Amino acid sequence: MTLDPPTMLVLTIVLAATASAYLAIEWTSVRESSLLFWSAGFATITVGSTLALMRMNGLLVLGIWFANGLLVTAHWLFLLGVARFTETRLSRAWYLIFVLWAALLALPNAAWWSNVMTFANSGLVGILALRASFLLRPHGKSLSVGAVQLRYVMLSHGLFYCVKALLAVMPGALLDLASFRGEIIQVSLVEGAVALMLIALSMTGSERYRREKRIARLAARDPLTTLYNRRALEVRAPRLLEHVSVQQPGALLLIDIDNFKLVNDLYGHPAGDRLLVNLSDMILAQLPEDALAARLGGDEFLILLGNASSEQIVALGSALREQFQREATAAFDTPEPVTLSIGANLFEYPPASLAALIEQSDAALYESKRGGRDSIRLVDRTISGPI
Ligand code: GH3
Ligand code: MG
Repeated sequence: MTLDPPTMLVLTIVLAATASAYLAIEWTSVRESSLLFWSAGFATITVGSTLALMRMNGLLVLGIWFANGLLVTAHWLFLLGVARFTETRLSRAWYLIFVLWAALLALPNAAWWSNVMTFANSGLVGILALRASFLLRPHGKSLSVGAVQLRYVMLSHGLFYCVKALLAVMPGALLDLASFRGEIIQVSLVEGAVALMLIALSMTGSERYRREKRIARLAARDPLTTLYNRRALEVRAPRLLEHVSVQQPGALLLIDIDNFKLVNDLYGHPAGDRLLVNLSDMILAQLPEDALAARLGGDEFLILLGNASSEQIVALGSALREQFQREATAAFDTPEPVTLSIGANLFEYPPASLAALIEQSDAALYESKRGGRDSIRLVDRTISGPI
């Protein structure tokens, strides 16, 4: 089988139709609108390539002007999909591309017709692909692996089309769109098939990676306060604790609200929820570097410090207790005070397990509760040795 233009076009039609169907099916599970735009883009290429075959039957306007225009439309749909993916607004000026396309119909039938047609259409495709690649550049938010691939595929595809546009108007360029003659056309059809596959693959990858990341983020967070949950803490704690040593002791603070049930009972569950969110905001605001905060459940929170001293723990605990008491007293009038009890643990050897460490702080917290609440109990294990 030779790679003659009709064969390449049939291959392109099959690939584009498959990519379109694949992205549409992907959309049924990953409901992101960008996938629909991309699927529509490939469907447009399927129609455009089918029309391109018709030029052999003498249908030149349909087979050249319309087919090339559909290639531009397909890239315009790709760009819209990328804009959705990156949550950027496209300027309305991009719609002017269709005015340019329509203007091409007015080209007189001269010897340079094929060259100008190729220059304009390839230039438009190139600009659209480069714009899509530019939208995918890293800007603050980190990009998924799939999006980085899509960025570079679009960049090379866009550059290829810009070069193709320039070659078409170089003196001596052999181009005959009507009979598919000329090296530019041959090379372009091969590039088209390769780009098609790479673009479709990186498009599905982009959305999939992002969705997986989003699910992982949701699974790691407590939905009310957005602090880490216990599972996420267990994953992240070992890295923080691996540097714990005699010179750099670690600490764990267990924080529980005193008489929290009274807020729920007297002011309702939503008021209780707001207080939990307020406390998590206070914890985050006071959280030193090299530390993790989590909500273990109910009204129990945890702070893990990778480098601490007993003075720092007492200062942190007191600051939290004072601020919380001030705000809770101002917001709620309760028969018993709504305050914070804290059990803390300072250690200079990495613990056997996070659970063992939490247990020790829990014992200190219990002491604090038993001693009348609204206080901090610190167990300093840097003197007594390994735990
Ligand atoms: P203590 O002083 O001994 O800590 O008692 P407490 O009243 O604070 O109650 P305790 O810590 O034993 O129990 C926590 C309560 O928090 C029990 C539960 O009704 C409530 N709670 C648990 N999760 C939530 C939540 O997501 N929102 C709200 N509003 N309340 C919750
Ligand atoms: Mg409590």
